This record gives sequence, structure tokens and C-alpha cells, in this order.
Amino acid sequence: MRAMMNSADALRPHPNRPDPVARLDLPAHVPIAIVGSGFSGLGSAIALANEGYAPSDVLILERRLGVGGTWYDNSYPGCRCDVPSNLYSFSFAPNPNWSETFSGQPEIERYLQSTARRYGVLDRIAFDAELESARWDAERSVWELDTARGSLTADVLISGGGGLSEPSIPDLTGAETFAGTSFHSAQWNHEHDLTGRRVAIIGTGASTIQFLPYVQREAGHVTLFQRTPPWVFPHRNRPTRGYERLAFRMLPWTQRFSRARNYWMGEFLLGSMLIHNSPMLTRLERLARRYLARQVADPELRAKLTPTYTPGCKRLLQSNDYYPALQRPNVSVEVEKIIEVVPSGVVTADGVLHEVDTIIYGTGFRITNNPMAERVIGTDGRTLKEHWSSAGVGMSAYCGATIPGFPNFFMLAGPNTGIGHTSLVVMIEAQIAHVTGALRAMRQRRGTAVEVRPEVASRWASEIQVKAAPTVWNSGGCSSWYLDEAGRNTTLWPDYTFRFVRRTRPFHPADYLITGTYGEGGSGNGAAVGAGLDARVGSATREPSTSAPTP
Ligand SMILES: Cc1cc2nc3c(=O)[nH]c(=O)nc-3n(C[C@H](O)[C@H](O)[C@H](O)COP(=O)(O)OP(=O)(O)OC[C@H]3O[C@@H](n4cnc5c(N)ncnc54)[C@H](O)[C@@H]3O)c2cc1C
Repeated sequence: MRAMMNSADALRPHPNRPDPVARLDLPAHVPIAIVGSGFSGLGSAIALANEGYAPSDVLILERRLGVGGTWYDNSYPGCRCDVPSNLYSFSFAPNPNWSETFSGQPEIERYLQSTARRYGVLDRIAFDAELESARWDAERSVWELDTARGSLTADVLISGGGGLSEPSIPDLTGAETFAGTSFHSAQWNHEHDLTGRRVAIIGTGASTIQFLPYVQREAGHVTLFQRTPPWVFPHRNRPTRGYERLAFRMLPWTQRFSRARNYWMGEFLLGSMLIHNSPMLTRLERLARRYLARQVADPELRAKLTPTYTPGCKRLLQSNDYYPALQRPNVSVEVEKIIEVVPSGVVTADGVLHEVDTIIYGTGFRITNNPMAERVIGTDGRTLKEHWSSAGVGMSAYCGATIPGFPNFFMLAGPNTGIGHTSLVVMIEAQIAHVTGALRAMRQRRGTAVEVRPEVASRWASEIQVKAAPTVWNSGGCSSWYLDEAGRNTTLWPDYTFRFVRRTRPFHPADYLITGTYGEGGSGNGAAVGAGLDARVGSATREPSTSAPTP
């Protein structure tokens, strides 16, 4: 679609955003520390404010110099969401002014920034404060946090560090000897002028199909190194119409209706096919094959671009300009395996040296080995990563959020919360409701620590693997980042998302151990999470507006 190729976001210079707020000094102690300022971190801070917590009760630790998370980092040309914006946004903060139906990265970043400002959480963010380690001190019932800007303690730690926030760069022999410029799509080098350059693009995932058409227009030559072709469908993005924006502003129910329609269509059309690895997926495959045949005339190139696995097994991609770009005279598609990188380029298994000046890695993210798992240390002195490998279940968390042995620790967008057919924000909002429910229960019992019962977490983990077995992600004939090294699905929710919402939103105290009594320990010990709040808002805490039923 031409609308996607407007010059406004074509190879735009990196915004080089200035530090948006005054440098916030780290306190010695904060009741609730949140890692990250993407949808998860901002949504949590807003929900906690609605719950009655004072601004000084909550601190967001953010390693970057601006908010947005994914939408701050990924500033590559052509970056946009692949879920309609009316659904890919907070349910409590609709934006009637989206300029396109599937917004581009700059607009989503601005949306998150203005939402943070509007809900008063912008000045609760300590930027440039990467969390380096978090250790649970059982005696004091506090998390000891080390950050790039110093140490502090917190009664509760909420991780909104993101599942797709750590670029994954393949360990290619000789990559460090490359004499040209190389970068990952999530760390786009806007200073590097691509005009006339010979560019290698490695990987054919969701980011590559978005930025390749832009690179093709600038570069002298592009070689795309493809291991597995994706299934590609037409993109339905279009500019929003004036009357739609007016209706959304004047009659907000129309936007809620659009959100709900997108949500339920996603669940029952696409979601049900993927969850059940349904024979209907062959119809989807026929559609994609027809699209490929219409767009790519050359049978040899078409063969290279035809996947051999069931659609949906890897993320379904949407683009109107990817296939046309691949047929431009300055693009070649290489399917030979890369065996090494040398100073002048990339060598493939057939012995050919592809001379290039620039390598762009479109190789995705570290998902099943996210560094956060190495930084968080629980009651028995083991990291999350060690806990998961010793438990033998791989990455796993009850409701994608809580882990036995890690009290007062909540992961948002954690294990098995990813989705292949709808908006992750739906999952994140359900988890936030779970977290606020947990804190409310802890206060009501005057406890200082809340921890999921091991048997509850282990039942959940087994249930997920049983549910995952028949899905297209496990049985669709591909290897993908959805599965860990043991072939377990530890990333995606293998069912309808309304079932996740139904299970996760309500907090059931019986699933948890609530221990300690505040007021009886040393420093921290939950006093501010409980007593401080009791003093301000009493026990009749109001239901946060962010927990309005999703979608
Ligand atoms: C290019 C791209 C397109 C996507 N499109 C869609 C889409 O269309 N629909 C969809 O549902 N999902 C999409 N996703 C998934 C997307 O990641 C989630 O939808 C959502 O943005 C996740 O929000 P989050 O807050 O959980 O994590 P993130 O947005 O990743 O934010 C994590 C934040 O934590 C910070 N952080 C991480 N570690 C630390 C640390 N140790 N200390 C301090 N700060 C830290 C990071 O700097 C970052 O700001 C896309 C992802 C990518 C990469």
C-alpha cells in the first residue's frame, strides 16, 4: 500500500531524542519499583496510581532516555504495528486521532509518551537507570536493587523489561572482523547513509519485511540472506478518514466498537485456526500462495520465497511492498547458509564471497534467554534462569507473572503471554489487574510477602504444555523462536486470549502464600505497600479504571 511508503518516515534521521525529564535521583527505598517504560511499565504505574498509591510510592527504572520500550528502540524505517491501533493501545486510553489504521512507530511512541504525561507518571521515571541485579532479602522482605545509577531497595518489583527488548545477533564466525558498518534493526544506525551502499540484510522476520523496501530504495545493492521464508499477506493499513476520527472523538463508543470487533475477529477467525492447527489454515495458505503468485512473476524467485511449513507456525507477516522490492534489479535473495563474515563481506556455504559495505541484522530478539532471568535472584540464592533450568519446565510463570521462590516479584509479558493473532496489550492489562489484586490481598492480610504456591505454578506449567501440543506453533512443521531448545512452547499463550484474561485478571489468594506482618520487621518490610496506603485510602480501595474488562 502506497500509504505505507510516504516520505515522512522514509529513512528519517534518528530523532536523537533529548532526555525528556529532569534526572530523577534514586531514593534509598521505594515501595514499588517497576522495570521498563513500555506498555507494561507505564500501564502498571498508571494502575497503581488509580489504586491509590502516591507518586512517591512508585518508581520506574528505565535504561533508555525516553519512554516507549519497543517503540522507542525500534526506529528503523517502516516500523509499524501489525495489529490495528484501536486494539494495539491501552483500553483505558483510546486515541481517536490515529492517523493510520496500523500506526507507524513514531506515532505509537508519541502515544505512549503522551499517555505517560496525561496520567502523571512521566516524572516517576528514573532514566538511564538500567537494573543490573535484583536480590530478595528474605529477612527484611525487600528487593535489593543494583542499577547503573546506584542501589536502592523495594518492597515489590514489577518487571516490564519486555520479551522483545534484547536484540539477538547470530554468532557468525568472523563477524568482528567486518570492516564495514553493521547494526541490528532495533539499534538502527541513523548516522549511516545507505545511499549507493552494498547492503547485506540477514534474516527475514517481521522487522526485515518492513525495512527492506526502504533500504532497497537507497542502497546500491541489497543481498537478502534468507534461511526460512515467511508467509506474507496483504497489509490492510490505510490512512484513517476524517469522519472516523470525528466519530471516535464525539461518540467514543464507536471506537470501543471498532476495538471489540477487531478483537473478536482476531480470536475467532485467526486465533481459532492457529490454536487448533485447523485445516482452515490450508485456505490461508492458498490465499498467501495466490498473493505470492500475483506479486512475483519469476518462478525461480517464487520458489525461494515459498515456505514449506503451515502458515502461522511462524508469525504471519503483512506487507504490500516486500515482494515488489525483492524484484527490483538492485536486490538479490540468497538462500545459501552463511558460513562466515570476512572484512569485505559475507561468505556462503557455496564458497561465494558477497562483498558488502553494510550488514543489517534483522535477526530478532533474545526471547528464550532474556538477560532479565540472569539478574533476578530469589529466596534460595538462585537466579530465575537457574530456577527454570533446575525445575525442568523451561521458562514458566503462573499467569505469565509469578514464580515460586520469587516473592513480591511480578513479570509482565512474561512466559507464555506472547500471542500470534492479537494485541499483547490485552495480555499485559490482564496481568496488571492480577498484580494490583495481589497487592490488595497482601494489604488486606497485612502481609509483607506474596508468593505463588509451587503446586499452583507447576499445574499451570503442565497445563500450558498440554494445551500447546496441538497448536500450529508446536505442530506446524517449523522451528521458531516460540519454542525453546527442548521444543517446549515457553513464549506463546496457546489458547484464546479471553481465556487468559478470565484466568489472570481475578487474583485468587488461595493460589498464593501471603506471609509476614508489616510493622514487625526492619526497614522496608512492606510497610509502605500496606500501611502507607491504608493511611491514605483506607481498606476500601477503589477498583482501578485500568482494569475495565479488556478488550
Ligand atoms: C518491531 C516490533 C513490532 C511489534 N509489533 C507488535 C504489534 O503489532 N502488536 C503486538 O501486540 N506486539 C507487537 N510487538 C511486541 C511488543 O514488544 C509488545 O507489544 C509491547 O510493546 C511490549 O511492551 P513491554 O512494555 O512489555 O516491553 P518493551 O516495550 O520491550 O519495554 C521494555 C522496557 O524495559 C526497559 N528495560 C529492559 N531491561 C531493563 C533493565 N534491566 N533495566 C531498566 N530498563 C530495562 C527497556 O529499555 C524498555 O524500555 C512488536 C515488537 C517489535 C520489536
